[in-house]
Amino acid sequence: MDLSIPIRLKPGVKLDCLSTQILLAILVASQAYQALGARSLTVTSVCDGEHSEASLHWIGHACDLRTKNLEASDEEKAQLARTIAERLGNDFDVLFEGAGTPQEHIHIEYQPKRRSN
Ligand SMILES: [Zn+2]
Repeated sequence: MDLSIPIRLKPGVKLDCLSTQILLAILVASQAYQALGARSLTVTSVCDGEHSEASLHWIGHACDLRTKNLEASDEEKAQLARTIAERLGNDFDVLFEGAGTPQEHIHIEYQPKRRSN
């Protein structure tokens, strides 16, 4: 697959704490965005914005991706989140949040699950 859509940063996004896991997640997400016909992917938050004190954003293990500019239905955006989740595997959580609101976005966080062995 051509990995050519531009990855953009919303002005003010802070990357100081960006983890390599979230960098990978952004690249994987860009491929899924492209497959949906998006012409770019905009990262709207990493180590910045308004999040709970315990949020993984503050340690660079979460990012938010813009969805309001996509020419897609809410269901297609939810499917996009599921596609990204499948590709990233169990150590990542991917949520389509705020559907239909000005704040809607896909939130991705890296949260390794406890292994049973
Ligand atoms: Zn988030």
